[in-house]
Amino acid sequence: MDILFKDNLEFARELDSRDEIFHIRERFYLQEGQIYMDGNSLGVCSKDAEEYVLNMLETWKKEGINIWGVEEGKYFLYQNYLGKLTAPLIGADPEEVTVGNSTTVNIHQCIATFYKPTTERYKIIVDDLNFPTDRYAIDSQVKLKGYEVEEAVKVVHSRDGRLIAENDVIEAMADDVAIIFLPSVYYRSAQLLDMERITREAQKRGIVMGWDLAHSIGSVPHDLKTLDCDFAVWCNYKYLAGGPGATAGMYINKKHFLMEPGLAGWHGNKKKTQFLLKQNFEHETNAGGWQIGTQPLLSMAPIEGVLKLYNEAGMDKIRKKSLLLTEYLMFLIDERLQKYGCQVGTPREDSRRGGHVALEHDEAYRICAALKEHNVIPDFREPNIVRLAPVALYVSFAEIHRLVDILESILVNREYEKFSHQRTLVV
Ligand SMILES: *Cc1c(COP(=O)(O)O)cnc(C)c1O
Repeated sequence: MDILFKDNLEFARELDSRDEIFHIRERFYLQEGQIYMDGNSLGVCSKDAEEYVLNMLETWKKEGINIWGVEEGKYFLYQNYLGKLTAPLIGADPEEVTVGNSTTVNIHQCIATFYKPTTERYKIIVDDLNFPTDRYAIDSQVKLKGYEVEEAVKVVHSRDGRLIAENDVIEAMADDVAIIFLPSVYYRSAQLLDMERITREAQKRGIVMGWDLAHSIGSVPHDLKTLDCDFAVWCNYKYLAGGPGATAGMYINKKHFLMEPGLAGWHGNKKKTQFLLKQNFEHETNAGGWQIGTQPLLSMAPIEGVLKLYNEAGMDKIRKKSLLLTEYLMFLIDERLQKYGCQVGTPREDSRRGGHVALEHDEAYRICAALKEHNVIPDFREPNIVRLAPVALYVSFAEIHRLVDILESILVNREYEKFSHQRTLVV
């Protein structure tokens, strides 16, 4: 940190006035008076996303089936096109990136491709803090290969329930490990793993390395070319704000382009021969070869809009602002909320922190309910986390300050006590 933070609104406004990407906020549909702190679950709708969806609808109206052929096959090759726009965000070659399926399906696709267990090497390393769908996918993949989960899935346990120690991951890298699959940023604590160190150690031992970038893409810049991991997957509806259930992304390192995709489908076929509709599958030798079925154009169109917006802002500026936002939030939590039982569960070092802050409190669930009544959109995560994600493209420092004012009044007046502990269907 090279800024001496102050706890007052004027100071927060001063930070806003120095923010080089402040103007981009106007492109998002922020609701009057609302503080949106959940952009890492579902990013706010932007005018750019809307424009591209409406344009897609118009094209469909006008063109019907010919939609696939307009603009020299732009939409037939849309996954390539969006891959190209995604590549600068993750430092990959455009041909290594594709947009398709959901994140969970892409995990299945990557594991189905890279998991080739032998009697000597058959284990997959995971951890016990990752978002559970990743684990469900891994477990089912090992079962499909005839293993018991207990024998083939090697779980690295957190020591404190918040963080995963890189040393523990490295220690688990025994000769029987075939694949390591970990998240870049943890969905609860926002811990950013030392991806470089873990990947290098995996490479030394001939272990396939895969990353789930769901909580880092659009928030933390990546340089996959230098990292040289084998595969990666991510969501496009979190920081990237591509819309509810937006089509996901996948990176396949080009050194693996000749490998056979684990889950084949006609949209992974070579584009030149796809419509010859032959019975034998010949996959495209770029990340597009890992596509499965027909692309959901209406779920992809908004991604085009937001990717252009993210490229316009640039990941370096986004990351710089994001770190400052979360640092300011943690500073205010320490100053004002610690005395009411709040703790920061997120690493303080910039190099170990993603784009959100985990505010821990025994009453986290009911505090979230109270925040909603104050027109703040937080996210509750079991068992005791108020998750706060100030997305750099549309959250201001003044809002961070106001958020902490609101939290303080909720805690001082014990406002949360009037809410039920009963969980709703979606928390
Ligand atoms: C959000 C998230 C997912 C979501 O997967 P979907 O298939 O899009 O539902 C998967 N993994 C991680 C780590 C996530 O954070």
